[in-house]
Amino acid sequence: MKGKVFVIGLGLIGGSLAMAVRHAHPEAVIVGADLSEKNVQLSTLLGIIDESVSSLEAGAREADLILLAVPVNETVKILAQLADMDLKNDVLISDAGSTKDTVVKAAKPLIDKGVAFIGGHPMAGSHKSGAAAAKLHLFEHAFYLLTPGDSIEEEKVEQLKRWLQGTRANFLVVSPATHDKLTGVISHFPHIVASGLVKQAEHYSKENKLISRLAAGGFRDITRIASSSPEMWRDILLHNRDVLLELMNDWLNEMEHIKGLVASEDSEEILRFFTDAKIFRDDLPTHAKGAIPAFYDLYIDIPDYAGIISEITGYLAQEGISITNIRIIETREEIYGVLVISFQTDVDRIKAAECISRHTDYETILA
Ligand code: NAD
Repeated sequence: MKGKVFVIGLGLIGGSLAMAVRHAHPEAVIVGADLSEKNVQLSTLLGIIDESVSSLEAGAREADLILLAVPVNETVKILAQLADMDLKNDVLISDAGSTKDTVVKAAKPLIDKGVAFIGGHPMAGSHKSGAAAAKLHLFEHAFYLLTPGDSIEEEKVEQLKRWLQGTRANFLVVSPATHDKLTGVISHFPHIVASGLVKQAEHYSKENKLISRLAAGGFRDITRIASSSPEMWRDILLHNRDVLLELMNDWLNEMEHIKGLVASEDSEEILRFFTDAKIFRDDLPTHAKGAIPAFYDLYIDIPDYAGIISEITGYLAQEGISITNIRIIETREEIYGVLVISFQTDVDRIKAAECISRHTDYETILA
């Protein structure tokens, strides 16, 4: 497609989206803006954008597509500014924020003016930020949720998907409220619990230093997401407040229930609690082949092409490094890569990371 694409926020997500747009639409002109001069310079240097502008108005005026990839609080402010600007009649606007209801509400003045705003959330990420971390294949096979408001025509959604086809993501259209409920349950609330577990361990580690040592491995693994950006998660909680308050209430009730079972030593019901959880968990798609505790996981950020897995395992086999499990993560939100290989020991994991770095330029993370 031809036209001008204006990307506001040239960080990990904005930079990666710009790369994907350029890949699929080489004739499009990509204009970028960012408060960080460093990210603007880097994006220009890396060829992520064709030109930069120092005011939103300069970029927005002639844009056919505007993509906002800034923190959600900033998205809300920028949408209000865009509503006061003269934009092209058929401009499409989308964002990449992790919450959708408040964002789509903030876009109401634009939508009322007849502008097509379609909320977006590419469910892929990394612990890194900034333009330097941007990658063309960041969103490959990741879910990309789109949340058009009721008044948005189907054709506009299809047009946005065409613009974003270079992401090779799996697009799903849901309502903003459904988006926030789904991500609240499977992502936002688990982040709160993970951080809560870490804080509890920290509290008890003051009494006994062995806590930190024993928390290596499994505990570290199940609380991995607690290492994500605190600023981003603060914003997410504030923007998904109602859903999270409801989930917290449910959780407190659940904890009260279990507390009662433990206090009354109700062994049958305690068994039922764990059995029910196990049945549902074992049935989750990514664990369909049986969940092995993910001790000593190595995350490898790989491009998606036939033979990639045998290439990687081939290098490991050459060096006699044995693996205990291998899996591909489909929902990549906040997960540090797409291919996860588990090892028996940490020594094997470190050897594997070194081996892969010697043979390839794929990023490996010992999360
Ligand atoms: P990032 O920190 O890498 O990039 C954000 C960029 O926005 C920075 O370069 C910053 O300077 C710029 N910025 C901030 N305020 C601005 C403003 N008012 N005008 C212009 N530029 C501004 O962050 P990111 O990971 O790319 O996240 C961007 C958005 O994507 C957030 O809304 C986040 O919720 C969402 N998101 C993040 C992930 C993830 O895992 N990182 C995943 C999915 C969605």
